[in-house]
Amino acid sequence: MSESIVKEDIKSLVDGLNFAEKVDRSLTLIRDAYEEYGEGLVVANSLGKDSVVVWHLVKRVSEEIRGFIVTTRFKPTETVKFMNEEVARYPEMKIFRNDQEIPDRLYETDPDRCCDILKVQPTRQAVKEMNVKCWVTGLRCTEGRTRTDFGEIEERDKGLIKLNPILIWNEREVWQYLALHSVPVNPLYLQGYRSLGCEPCTHISNDPNERAGRWIGTSKCGGECGIHTRPLTENYSQPEG
Ligand code: SF4
Repeated sequence: MSESIVKEDIKSLVDGLNFAEKVDRSLTLIRDAYEEYGEGLVVANSLGKDSVVVWHLVKRVSEEIRGFIVTTRFKPTETVKFMNEEVARYPEMKIFRNDQEIPDRLYETDPDRCCDILKVQPTRQAVKEMNVKCWVTGLRCTEGRTRTDFGEIEERDKGLIKLNPILIWNEREVWQYLALHSVPVNPLYLQGYRSLGCEPCTHISNDPNERAGRWIGTSKCGGECGIHTRPLTENYSQPEG
């Protein structure tokens, strides 16, 4: 697959395509990638609203497609319960978790290190163990300040393709899809959360930036855990710009 579209085009697609056209585009991206990578195509499922949309979309392409979930000791009870329900329903979804000891309250003193140990390392393990050639994510370019610079098809780690099939969807379209297909979601959304992560680092926020409730009060506020920005294999090359 080639990195097909320049960034300016991505922005124009966000407003230029309607809901149905976006769904078709996402399905085509997944279908093409599945044709190319077969069982090497694996979904990274964070159990958030965007991931469950992507999971539903890939299942429309093939029931065979596998997934992985990276969980941590700090996930809220509701998320753990939702995860267990999802895995019971889809045994082809594998859970990865790092239980190594870390300093107390590392999420306050050094959240980047905490995320690196608890989230990025198990993601690397998943990529390796599941022999992933193309990983599929629920990343969207309208989620916040750190998500504007991605493409639908990327290769930041050489030899590991990353597919972001709902990159151009906005928040409303995600909820529209979930409602129209009656897809179950994490019950935390009922409480007003808009972006979900570990319990100590996730808050309810009405900020226009959808991810503003993440890592409030730290240098990482509204930012990233690192799975989209850190190397996942030994063949990572930093993108230019
Ligand atoms: S989100 Fe918070 S608790 Fe979870 S791994 Fe990152 S810093 Fe640690």
